[in-house]
Amino acid sequence: MDFQAFQAYEGRAAAVGGAGKDPVNGPMIRHWCEAMGHPVPVDGSAPQAMLQVWTMGGLSGHAAGAGRSSAYEELLGRLDAAGCTSVVATDCEQEYVRPLLPGERITFDAVIESVSGSKTTKLGTGHFVTTRMEVRAEGGELVGTHRFRILKYAPAQGKAPKQTAGPRRPRPVVNRDNAGYWEGIRERRLLIQRCAGCGALRLPWLPGCDACGSADWDTVRAGGDGVVFSYVVMHHPPFPAFDPPYAVALVELAEGVRVLGNVVGVPYDKVRIGMPVRLEFLNTDDELTVPVFRGEG
Ligand code: ZN
Repeated sequence: MDFQAFQAYEGRAAAVGGAGKDPVNGPMIRHWCEAMGHPVPVDGSAPQAMLQVWTMGGLSGHAAGAGRSSAYEELLGRLDAAGCTSVVATDCEQEYVRPLLPGERITFDAVIESVSGSKTTKLGTGHFVTTRMEVRAEGGELVGTHRFRILKYAPAQGKAPKQTAGPRRPRPVVNRDNAGYWEGIRERRLLIQRCAGCGALRLPWLPGCDACGSADWDTVRAGGDGVVFSYVVMHHPPFPAFDPPYAVALVELAEGVRVLGNVVGVPYDKVRIGMPVRLEFLNTDDELTVPVFRGEG
């Protein structure tokens, strides 16, 4: 299959006639802010980083005809047929026009913005497919855009033997916004972003500051002390690289920011909210290091 055939899909619809399942509402704003450690805006508006929340179909999905377009399905099918059977989400970019207020209903549609030429990555060779969603308020007013990029690829042949050493954990999605974080982790340092404008600390890494809007930042190294802010015990679904049941915690670091990681050194059923934990680093295989948290149980 030649590139021109894929490129012919540029400009065609990727999703049509989408509508938010719920109006913008206070409970979802509050839950999102609590989960993200984000202040609830005092004017009651939705944080603009919630843009995609209002477009999601949830477990039950969107109504028939309001999801992916036939053109997008066709493009993915053609890439499959060309051997690009694997897919990985690589990055997303959002642009915000104005905050949404409770009670507002959104609509959205998306266009296939670009299909790249053949690219070879560590995963394999394939094509980047970028879609751009426009989210609109009632009356058609644009409130934000969401650009989403996937790589449809043929898995690299050389990768296969590595699997024989046992299943590997999923790889983190590293992009230009968080590459420094994962470089730090490889060097066994957990780096927190610090806004150069107002000093606010943030984790996970973001391109700009929620508090003051500054795009300038440096980093501070986490001391390593934290407490379990919340946790789940994973039983299902089973995933080959993991050995359930195991506990995954949202840890509040002493610096005040939160980070996800496995809890080690304590039986999964002894993990509790408020439990002190200490940062460690785990090499899950030759290529991946992740932060984990040792409980003192
Ligand atoms: Zn700031």
